[in-house]
Amino acid sequence: MRMLVLDVFLQTSKAMSLADLEEKLAPSDRSTLYRTLKTFEKKGLIHGIQEHHTTQYLRCSDKCNEKVHHDAHLHFYCNLCKQTTCLEDIDIPHLHLSRDYIVKELKFLATGICKLCHPSE
Ligand SMILES: [Zn+2]
Ligand SMILES: [Zn+2]
Ligand SMILES: [Zn+2]
Repeated sequence: MRMLVLDVFLQTSKAMSLADLEEKLAPSDRSTLYRTLKTFEKKGLIHGIQEHHTTQYLRCSDKCNEKVHHDAHLHFYCNLCKQTTCLEDIDIPHLHLSRDYIVKELKFLATGICKLCHPSE
């Protein structure tokens, strides 16, 4: 099962939700899938982002590993094709929070029309 799930992520750069994977790998056991995703997330292979009440998982860059994730990058959600893309090249301003706040997760989500859906000029 793990190999199958990993394969899906290696073959696509698209975001996958639990339901997407379930469909792709049917027949599959939802709880096994869920556990697999959590394991991959821990290992630094994929990162999950919360979106419209579901979690979408995307492949991590090579910079991520078991100890640290470097996924504080912009995500772009396309309203037309409903796909989420990682925009890792966009610079995100470094936030300086006071010491009283411990940041566990930082989310940058842009929505609009992606380059694939954008009418070509
Ligand atoms: Zn990551
Ligand atoms: Zn699109
Ligand atoms: Zn990402």
